[in-house]
Amino acid sequence: MADLLITGGRVIDPSQRLDRAADVYIKEGKVADVAAGLAKKSGLAGAPRLDAAGRWVLPGLVDMHVHLREPGRENDETIAAGTRAAARGGVTTVLAMPNTEPAIDNASLVAFVKAKAAAEGAVNVLVAGAATLGQQGERLTEVAQLVAAGVAAISDDGRPLMNSELMRRALEYAHGCGVPFIDHCEDLHLSGGAPVHEGAAAAVKGLRGAPWAAETVMVLRDIALCELTGARVHIAHVSAAQSVEALRAAKRRGLPVTAEATPHHLALCDADIEGYDADFKMNPPLRSPRDREALLEGLADGTIDAIATDHAPHGPGKKALGLAAAPFGVIGLETSLAVCLTRLVERKILTPSQLAARMSAALASILGLKGKGTLRRGADGDVTIVDPRASWTVEADFESKSRNCPFLGLRLKGRAAAAVVGGRIAHAL
Ligand SMILES: [Zn+2]
Repeated sequence: MADLLITGGRVIDPSQRLDRAADVYIKEGKVADVAAGLAKKSGLAGAPRLDAAGRWVLPGLVDMHVHLREPGRENDETIAAGTRAAARGGVTTVLAMPNTEPAIDNASLVAFVKAKAAAEGAVNVLVAGAATLGQQGERLTEVAQLVAAGVAAISDDGRPLMNSELMRRALEYAHGCGVPFIDHCEDLHLSGGAPVHEGAAAAVKGLRGAPWAAETVMVLRDIALCELTGARVHIAHVSAAQSVEALRAAKRRGLPVTAEATPHHLALCDADIEGYDADFKMNPPLRSPRDREALLEGLADGTIDAIATDHAPHGPGKKALGLAAAPFGVIGLETSLAVCLTRLVERKILTPSQLAARMSAALASILGLKGKGTLRRGADGDVTIVDPRASWTVEADFESKSRNCPFLGLRLKGRAAAAVVGGRIAHAL
């Protein structure tokens, strides 16, 4: 457990409505004080220091949608490489999704990932447990055992739980065990495995498209099951305007439903897909400009609570198969903060404080993480330091083991200058 004094930065902590110049003192891994002039205190003269002059100091970013691929697909990503990618992007806590090989559907696999993360992880790793055995959508896992083993959420992400009766029971178990259920909303019959959104770009490219309704019918179903069970339902990677509208109405009625959007759906639309480049292929697909506008509105008004990457590494060979045949998914950990600073804060869609809320406090709240998403005294000493003026171009020199990034070559403004995890510097430029 480390001590650290972060000096001279602009501390932005929406959990305390704080936005002012201050020093942050972390003692034995926990936030001990946030105040101006700490650097001059004689008692702290010996503490290790990190200069944050000209920079923003935020509660450590949380990313609740990350595929670390271990066990089983270590050629695409590992816990070690994926968490180094997180640190470089300023993310201090990730939630690892369970669609590994084998799927994380029992307590011993949860223990494996947690042990590996403790030994090799550069940042905090939380684990989501599968909802069904092998994520086959047929038999429920032992949710209580998974929660006892320490999972932070239940999800079959990568796949939807198509059987609504099973979904109802999974929600009841998750609710009873006090963890949220994260759903990948997709009606597989409607989407039909189509590689892109059903719209103008699909027509021009001569590809099959997945309609927006493939997502929205499942969002509406989940809202109904949320009302039926009272369980906390979190909708992953919202992409369609009609889904945002459904969520807005559900929240107005006070239902405990939350939602996330990804940086790629917030920054890009189907018109941005370059040729047949599979680095623009993900599930759900990039949708129309109107859908993207609706996501931005939903993010600004709080209908969409959080930003999460859906970091989905695939080795280069697989993505070389082209749009139609390549697997779904793009990496995002090393670009999420910078893309959001450039496209959301620079363009005044979110204030810096709102961005901190959407990338940290909101996710800590959804996952019920007491010591995260805040720089209150006693909170975990996880801090993200932002250089808001850094100007850089995304290049394929990623810490991630994969290179499937739709933002390659993009000029961005702002980036993570440092990531601090429990008072220890996990990344610094
Ligand atoms: Zn998904």
